[in-house]
Amino acid sequence: MKIAIIGGGPAGLYLALLVKKWRPETTIDLFERNGPDDTFGWGVVFSDKTLGYLKAEDEPSYEAILRSFETWDNVDIVYRGEKITVGGNKFSGIARIEILHILQERCKELGVNLNFRTNITDVASLTGYDLIVGADGINSEVRSRYKDAFGPNISTRPNRYIWYGTPHLFHGLTLTFRENGDGVFAAHSYKFNKDLSTFIVECDEETWDTAGFANMDETATRLYLQDVFKDDLQGADLLSNNSKWINFLFVKNQHRYHENVVLLGDSVATVHFSIGSGTKLALEDAIALFLAMRDNDKLGIPATLAAFDKARSPVVNEYQEAAYESLVFFETLKDYMHLDPIPFAYKLMMRSGKVDHENLRKRDPGFVERYEKYVK
Ligand SMILES: Cc1cc2nc3c(=O)[nH]c(=O)nc-3n(C[C@H](O)[C@H](O)[C@H](O)COP(=O)(O)OP(=O)(O)OC[C@H]3O[C@@H](n4cnc5c(N)ncnc54)[C@H](O)[C@@H]3O)c2cc1C
Repeated sequence: MKIAIIGGGPAGLYLALLVKKWRPETTIDLFERNGPDDTFGWGVVFSDKTLGYLKAEDEPSYEAILRSFETWDNVDIVYRGEKITVGGNKFSGIARIEILHILQERCKELGVNLNFRTNITDVASLTGYDLIVGADGINSEVRSRYKDAFGPNISTRPNRYIWYGTPHLFHGLTLTFRENGDGVFAAHSYKFNKDLSTFIVECDEETWDTAGFANMDETATRLYLQDVFKDDLQGADLLSNNSKWINFLFVKNQHRYHENVVLLGDSVATVHFSIGSGTKLALEDAIALFLAMRDNDKLGIPATLAAFDKARSPVVNEYQEAAYESLVFFETLKDYMHLDPIPFAYKLMMRSGKVDHENLRKRDPGFVERYEKYVK
């Protein structure tokens, strides 16, 4: 069996190592356009549950990831200068480059052919493979090449976001809301190692235009946002990693596979970063495809891909629905800024539709009690 994987992000690397571990005789050629140490962004968040899956499938990479994790259970909401803490939420943070290095090392150990700095411009040029995997991220070439078969539906969302790091440590998933004369800004921040936190800033189109970001260079943008969040950063700088304003792309596809070509991770479905699940879904996609390969070993590629699709699509659709609700909350933030801190925090915790009142009570009875007192 020969497999080509386009994209060395979490989805592509994890699939490669799982299949190679199971079937060492399989040739796996993974093509990644960047170098092994290049990455965009800073740290990523995981929900606790993902870890069980990782442990079950590959203990060495699970142990290495676990050693690099920062964990916490509080969501801190900073609004009108007040900090409200909601406990009982399990999260872990890790640098994106760290998880990529762990998976790269594991792939090397197992004998996956990792081809860095190799940009695949036409997937049809990859001949002689039994299976071709498009794990090439949000702007997937593989998806574009076979767009008539995959049926992508891509919507460019109106909010803009920019992904920074900072040496200020946010001990918990911290959602900060600040208003100035130009509009409303939201920051999503959390520490992902002993020295650094991720700091993503998001704002709507009107705020972006009024602030004049179109005419600001990278430094001016960074200094402007540093000023908006000066009380939260407590004098620390925002750190750029070629950080630029981006509109979030909401990607869905009618189909996940076409003949012997299959899409994984962000290439097939994106979830807004406010629910912190993109990496988790990418890894779980890889696990689901691997399990479909193992369970349908004798039935061939078409049956394998059909089984993968059947198992995976409903799960991903459910996450996408929750993530969509969450992204709409951030897009319509101005509609909630009249709320007092407690109902604002309550609305924020419920925004994805995945948490209800009783569920929130289980996570943090004290917070729900404060809310119930407020509405009485
Ligand atoms: C601002 C922001 C914050 C986020 N925060 C979180 C978070 O906190 N938690 C979380 O779980 N997720 C988060 N995510 C989402 C997460 O980064 C993605 O969901 C995840 O990386 C998807 O993994 P992937 O392997 O599918 O794709 P990617 O990680 O995008 O990897 C795709 C790879 O393919 C390579 N590639 C692309 N085209 C080609 C080509 N033609 N030839 C060769 N190589 C190619 C790219 O260089 C890249 O390395 C965030 C995303 C953003 C934008």
